[in-house]
Amino acid sequence: MKQSLSKIESAFLEEISQVSDADKIEEIRVSYLGRKAGQLTVLLRGLKDLSIEEKKLIGPAANLLRQKIESTLTEALQKAGSSAVPEFDLSLPGKISQDKSLGHLHPITQINRELIRIFQSMGFQVLEGPELDNDYYNFEGLNFPFDHPARDIQDTFFIDSKITREEPRDFTRNDWVMRTQTSNMQVRVLEQAEPPVRCIIPGRVFRNEAIDATHEHTFYQLEGFVVDENINIGQLVWTLKEIFRQIFKQEVKLRLRPGFFPFVEPGYEVDMFCVFCGGSDVSCKVCKGLGWVEMLGAGMIHPNVLAAAGYDAGRYTGFAFGIGTGRLAMLKYNIPDYRLYMQGDLRFLEQF
Ligand SMILES: [Zn+2]
Repeated sequence: MKQSLSKIESAFLEEISQVSDADKIEEIRVSYLGRKAGQLTVLLRGLKDLSIEEKKLIGPAANLLRQKIESTLTEALQKAGSSAVPEFDLSLPGKISQDKSLGHLHPITQINRELIRIFQSMGFQVLEGPELDNDYYNFEGLNFPFDHPARDIQDTFFIDSKITREEPRDFTRNDWVMRTQTSNMQVRVLEQAEPPVRCIIPGRVFRNEAIDATHEHTFYQLEGFVVDENINIGQLVWTLKEIFRQIFKQEVKLRLRPGFFPFVEPGYEVDMFCVFCGGSDVSCKVCKGLGWVEMLGAGMIHPNVLAAAGYDAGRYTGFAFGIGTGRLAMLKYNIPDYRLYMQGDLRFLEQF
C-alpha cells in the first residue's frame, strides 16, 4: 500500500511537471482525484478493508498525499492563469479602479429637487401629469379655442392615432398631442380639487422646434398655480421673488412686462435683475449687458380657465406661472447650451 502511494506521487509529479495549460491540468486532476476512478480516490476507498493498524499507518500518509496533489494542482492552475482558480476571499474589499467614478444627479434633476423642496416648504403640493394628453387639457380648456391663432405660438407634436383611455371627462374631440406645457394639469387638477389649491407640476414637455443653443424639442418646465378667494398679483410676485431668492442665494429684483398667454389675464413676462453682473457689465453673457434677464411667463388665471374647471365666475381667483427648469439651471450653473443636457457627455455632467 505504501509503495502504491509513492508510485502515485512520483507519477503525478512527473505528469504535472510536463503540462502548463488549464485543460490538461484538469485532466490530471480527474485522473488522480476524480470521484469515480481517480487513482488516489480508488486507493483511499480501499482503506476501509484494511486492519485498524494498517489504517493508522496508511490513512494519514494517503491524506497528506491528497493535500499535496491538491495544492500542486492549484499552483499549476495559478501559473496557467486560469480563472477557474477556486481561491478567493469574499471578505476582501473590492478593487476600485481609477477610471471608475461614482455617478450623481443630472443638473436638471438637481434644480428640480431644489425647487420642489422650496415649494413644499411653502405648502405647495407636487403633482405629475400625462405627457401624452388630449387637446382639451393642453389647449381648449386653457382658453386656446380650436382654430385660434394662439395655438401657433407652440409648435405641437400631434398624434395621429385615436387613443382610448380612462379619463375624468368626455372629450369633444379625440385629438391627442404631446403636451406642449405642464399647464395641461391646470384644468385637470382644478376639476377635482376644492380651493384653496396650491400646487406645482414639474415635468417634460415637447415642441416641434428646430434645435439650437436655447431650444430643444424635449425640455423641462415647472408649472405652478394657486387658486383661492382673494388671490392677487402681489402674492404672485412675492412667491416668485422668494423662489429666486432661495435659488440664487441673494435678494432679487423682479420686473413685470405685459405678455400674452391665452390662459392668463393679465399675463406677464417676468424679468429678474441680473444677479451675475448687477447690471454693470456691458459684456455680461447672461443679461447681454441689458441688466435684466427673462425668467418666465406668469399671470392671473383667465376666468375662462376657471369656468372650464367648473368654478363659479367671480368667486375664486388665482395666479399661475411656468418656469423653464432647464433654462433656470443654465442660469444658475452658467451652462451655455441647452443641448448639453441631453448628450450624456460625462465631461459635462461631472461638473455638477
Ligand atoms: Zn448681467
